[in-house]
Amino acid sequence: MFEKVLIANRGEIALRINRACKEMGISTVAIHSTADADAMHVRLADESVCVGPAPASQSYLNMPAIIAACEITGAEAIHPGYGFLSENARFAEIVKEHGLTFIGPEPEHIRLMGDKIAAKQAVKAVGIPTVPGSDGAVESDSEAEKLAEEIGYPVLIKATAGGGGRGMKVAQQKSELSLALSTARTEAKTAFGNDAVYMEKYLERPRHIEVQVLADKFGNVIHLGERDCSLQRRHQKVWEEAPSPALNSAQRQEIGAIVTTALAKLGYLGAGTIEFLFEEGRFYFIEMNTRVQVEHPVTEAITGIDIVREQLRIAAGSPLEIAQSDVVISGHAIECRINAENPFKFTPSPGQITQFHAPGGLGVRFDSALYDGYRIPPYYDSLAGKLIVHAKNRNECLLRLRRALDELVVGGIETTIPLFQELVRQPDILNGDYHIHWLEQFLARRNG
Ligand code: ADP
Repeated sequence: MFEKVLIANRGEIALRINRACKEMGISTVAIHSTADADAMHVRLADESVCVGPAPASQSYLNMPAIIAACEITGAEAIHPGYGFLSENARFAEIVKEHGLTFIGPEPEHIRLMGDKIAAKQAVKAVGIPTVPGSDGAVESDSEAEKLAEEIGYPVLIKATAGGGGRGMKVAQQKSELSLALSTARTEAKTAFGNDAVYMEKYLERPRHIEVQVLADKFGNVIHLGERDCSLQRRHQKVWEEAPSPALNSAQRQEIGAIVTTALAKLGYLGAGTIEFLFEEGRFYFIEMNTRVQVEHPVTEAITGIDIVREQLRIAAGSPLEIAQSDVVISGHAIECRINAENPFKFTPSPGQITQFHAPGGLGVRFDSALYDGYRIPPYYDSLAGKLIVHAKNRNECLLRLRRALDELVVGGIETTIPLFQELVRQPDILNGDYHIHWLEQFLARRNG
């Protein structure tokens, strides 16, 4: 096992990785920008290195400074967390070239899954069902028109290099297609420097269901069941739960087997998530994330498996400790993303925390880098904490979530806590009866 690991991230995920390392007897090195000198991840790691000024492009994305931080401190491996450099294949290669270990998949798989068209073709070839659409990039308006007629409106134009819900445009009918193409292209060019787009059938009431996998270098691949991340705003997840209220155990086993067989064929290594849309009993692949995800704790709650610990073990070359038959799903878990934002308009609300109290009790986990007096800097994403509750069944989980939300105090800034206090009382949510557009429709009704 590694003796020292550098954590190339900040916020709650840096704390999360630090915890796993500590429990395995691994020393930790935090990196930080000048804006994060007082951050909790810096305080909790054994050592820390300042890697640059506030803008992420000069600090958390500063590859030479991060490699140098490993060399100075003697860290042997880098855990990238999520976001920042976690899905940068070139960074994973550079880490290897320096004789260090990248705690994640092989660069070739990061690169493959980062190109959505190539990813879709690759997973289709190993038996994963995909959304009907173009086989490759859509080059011209006339090609798009022809294809849209074939698959039927509405259609969705998506960026090949997409991420974070950007570069996606719907065309309800032929007259909207040309504009959807050009706006998706412009958005993709600005966000990713790559204007290639492709087309998919736009599903009208699907759920977002994703399967968590772990694969070691001995060819063992297991899945840890699914997460339902259908409550989204602007294609960004807001609330995640496991198991999905929409799947039965036969469907769970079916998709789990498809995914593990496919990833074994691809020779995938590490933790990963395959994302699907699910409509009328059928699964359609949308993308694969080659990193630990924000919502991984709901899976940890229902399986008792520490996903970050498994990432560290796999990267160190150890075989998986658990076989598929050892994975037992127990109870129900829900995660709410507590963002530093206005709860209904979602405008960012960075600033100083004047009061802070984390909820507690059986089945309650609060992953966060907040503390009393901490000033949330305006430079990074707005995730301030994740409330994860676990109980014997979904009903008890919802009741526990309600009381945990009422205990949570984050003063001095606006947060999304009031949104969740409303959601946890909505009949559709209580019944588990929602799809990926439900939250936007709810907000439109509520905000008038
Ligand atoms: P990103 O990488 O930007 O997150 P994804 O492909 O993962 O993009 O899609 C994000 C979200 O966009 C999905 O969870 C879903 O809500 C919506 N979406 C993606 N593809 C489709 C589709 N074909 N039909 C309807 N909604 C879609």
